[in-house]
Amino acid sequence: MKLSLRDLDVRNRAVLVRVDFNVPLEEKDGAQIITDDTRIRETLPTVGFLRERGAKVILMAHLGRPKGQPTPKYSLAPIARHLADLLHAPVDFAPDCVGAEAEAKVAALVPGGVLLLENLRFHAEEEANDDSFSKGLARLADIYVNDAFGAAHRAHASTAGVAAHVKQAAMGFLMEKELKYLQGELADPPRPFVVILGGSKVSDKIGVIKSLMQKADVFLIGGAMAYTFDAARGIPVGKSRVEADKLDLAKEILALAEAKKVKFLLPVDSIETQEIKPGAATRATKEGAGVDEGWMGVDVGPITIEHFKAEIARAQTVLWNGPMGIFEIEEFSHGTFSIARALAECEGISIIGGGDSVTAVQQSGLAERMTFLSTGGGASLELLEGKDLPGVSALTEKA
Ligand code: ADP
Ligand code: MG
Repeated sequence: MKLSLRDLDVRNRAVLVRVDFNVPLEEKDGAQIITDDTRIRETLPTVGFLRERGAKVILMAHLGRPKGQPTPKYSLAPIARHLADLLHAPVDFAPDCVGAEAEAKVAALVPGGVLLLENLRFHAEEEANDDSFSKGLARLADIYVNDAFGAAHRAHASTAGVAAHVKQAAMGFLMEKELKYLQGELADPPRPFVVILGGSKVSDKIGVIKSLMQKADVFLIGGAMAYTFDAARGIPVGKSRVEADKLDLAKEILALAEAKKVKFLLPVDSIETQEIKPGAATRATKEGAGVDEGWMGVDVGPITIEHFKAEIARAQTVLWNGPMGIFEIEEFSHGTFSIARALAECEGISIIGGGDSVTAVQQSGLAERMTFLSTGGGASLELLEGKDLPGVSALTEKA
């Protein structure tokens, strides 16, 4: 077990917290506007706890891909202002994340005060996990907290390297919550354990499929990845998105499921179209017949939805990663939103990981009825693959 925020004595101490403030921005009248502040809000429990306990809170984060150079449009200054609004308290801002000015601003912090450092990625040393840069960050505080789950699969200076140069390195509340659901709850899940996988590519999810094959009772497969499995089984896929170089791998997975006696359900019907655009004409394919020539499968069909719903209704644990179709277009979104509804109605634990799947669930308006929505795309996939995250491994082991 790693040290948690709750284990720390932080009163009057400077605490350096890595957060995930990599929020979507839109330029409007020359200013950068935050279009979704979920990631900022998710860190409020950690920041609030530290402030209440009288810590001096130093926040650090990255934004976008500035390629190691100071880049005004990736400045965290607008985020400092937004955070101040959310906290109803002043948030100071340091125009560089390391160096004399940042150190002076830390020295000026009062207990409960908050300072946000400028974008870590304005220094190429951040992503290179440069040791002297890590030391420069560590000079700001004795205690380090990592609450940036979404960046925890990266071994960067602020997510991993810095931990070696502080007295204590602990998980923040968001990090703890992500690990609790994606690792703890899924270590020995209540059964039946149903895994729903979809999205664009099988190749993105191979590691997850293989790892969960050891644990899951049922797989429900949708999205474009289903057509790679169909192509491997000799079922017509028309012009559907298929990874032609992954057919052998798909066969291998199907054989593995059979050997392990894991129920591996592929769609028996699809919604097909001839053009991917809003308002496009669609029709359902015939059960078991595959996608028609010249047409593309863009969603799971009504019979498949019923089969999947029946499995979900029986489940004690459901993990969902990857939309069932091109849910960004209304005509192709019915499968994804039907699955979201089935999960909302399921009595068991429902865990959703993956950037687009989480977006879909939020759009469905049913997010409140899920047990847990992960904030990390890549990080959640790596955890589900059974990998250790560098941003977690680097933290202090609990005595
Ligand atoms: P997540 O981010 O939840 O892990 P992915 O990134 O793997 O999910 O996949 C999401 C994308 O997959 C969506 O943009 C969606 O439009 C696309 N997709 C789903 N089904 C299909 C399909 N049948 N054909 C093409 N693209 C699809
Ligand atoms: Mg995605």
